[in-house]
Amino acid sequence: MQAIVIHKIGSFSIEEVPVPLPAQQEVRVRVAVTGVCRTDLKIIEQGHRDLVLPRIPGEEVVGTVEAVGPMTDPTWLGKRVYLYPGTACGECPACQAGADNLCRSMQIMGFHRDGGFASHVVTPVKSLLTLPENLSFEEAVFAEPLSCCLNALERAELKAGERLAVWGAGPAGTLLARAARQQGAEVTVIEPDLLRRRRAGGVEALSPAERFDVAIPAVGSPEAYHQALAALAPRGRLVAFSGLHPNEASHILNINTFHYLEQRVTGAYGCAFRHGEEAIHLIASGAVQVEDLISHRLLLTELTEALDLVRTRAGMKVLLTP
Ligand SMILES: [Zn+2]
Repeated sequence: MQAIVIHKIGSFSIEEVPVPLPAQQEVRVRVAVTGVCRTDLKIIEQGHRDLVLPRIPGEEVVGTVEAVGPMTDPTWLGKRVYLYPGTACGECPACQAGADNLCRSMQIMGFHRDGGFASHVVTPVKSLLTLPENLSFEEAVFAEPLSCCLNALERAELKAGERLAVWGAGPAGTLLARAARQQGAEVTVIEPDLLRRRRAGGVEALSPAERFDVAIPAVGSPEAYHQALAALAPRGRLVAFSGLHPNEASHILNINTFHYLEQRVTGAYGCAFRHGEEAIHLIASGAVQVEDLISHRLLLTELTEALDLVRTRAGMKVLLTP
């Protein structure tokens, strides 16, 4: 099968590799659509804490089950599925607390094991979610990024009626804003780019007096974090949703501000399995629109072009098909 393979940080190749065989309690999925996100750009160009090489990347994947491993439920065959990218143990303290994404033996598709930038991918049965019939593959592939947004809003303990500020109106920022509005929050999106700002109904900059209960940078820029901290109300919560370059990450917080204003900072990294169920429901029911965020549909072999679109922010969501 054709696959994108990263052998060393900084480059990838398009290769012919053997079609993977599912083991016990695993299935092989014929990939229908994969989403490209900033994380893919980051892992290829800079590497990532969880990346083990060589690797086929791709963590936003939907498709059809075409083979099951030995001793594995054959009724999965032919099902249209979303693949939760994590494999968690289900038993450690994090898993018991519903935070599978923090499982001590977490294995992430596209990082620890091969992902969906290929025509086929193998995944454990316990990572599968069946798609409703009315949900297209192109919409369903948003379940992964939306799940990460739901996790961030949960970590923020966002309540209806609260004010939320989101920095960046790219695909992630827009999904965050839509999910938060759906939860009854009053959302302001800060975005310098005119087209993205218009689409999101956002603002170019905040006025100095504005304060928010929750602030979420959805761009990996230290400046967004500085602005987010400055705009945080007393008892406000900052969510570290976007990672920063390691050189930039350690100079952001002033502990005394948190002391005097009783604020909190919380991280958000990935998503739990249950967020996938919720995300699929939100998309399938129309509560969170996603289709208008698709700007490009490219072939797997056009990954260079796809990554350029992500890097330059020239598009919104870029989808790949094998
Ligand atoms: Zn665990």
